[in-house]
Amino acid sequence: MKSYKKELHIHTKTRRALVNITPQVRASLTESGIREGLCLVNAMHITASVFINDDESGLHRDFERWLEKLAPEKPHDQYDHNGYEDNADAHLKRTVMGREVVVAITNGKLDFGTWEQIFYGEFDGMRDKRVLVKIIGE
Ligand code: ZN
Repeated sequence: MKSYKKELHIHTKTRRALVNITPQVRASLTESGIREGLCLVNAMHITASVFINDDESGLHRDFERWLEKLAPEKPHDQYDHNGYEDNADAHLKRTVMGREVVVAITNGKLDFGTWEQIFYGEFDGMRDKRVLVKIIGE
């Protein structure tokens, strides 16, 4: 069995952002040379997510509005976590949107359903963040 690991580096200009990282994951898969197996992609931070959904701007605005209803950023003092930090909402948003995805690799390709794309969800950005890509197989 072969094993491959890569870290993607992400730095968003805004506190919250959704980034389509499918091209970088696909490039990692090509680099790995693995044709059959599994590809894990996870956020290395507890205020960011990796999830799979549609690359459609209306849906992305819907995610933002929905997450702000569930865990509004402000007022910061509504959260017990926000003593020295102001990112309690980001921890909650990350938990709802998930830590990682696993995609099957078939015949050297990410075996997606129709419209599936991999996203990095940033909820406390404007700093250096990492995403782990781990691929195993043969
Ligand atoms: Zn925190």
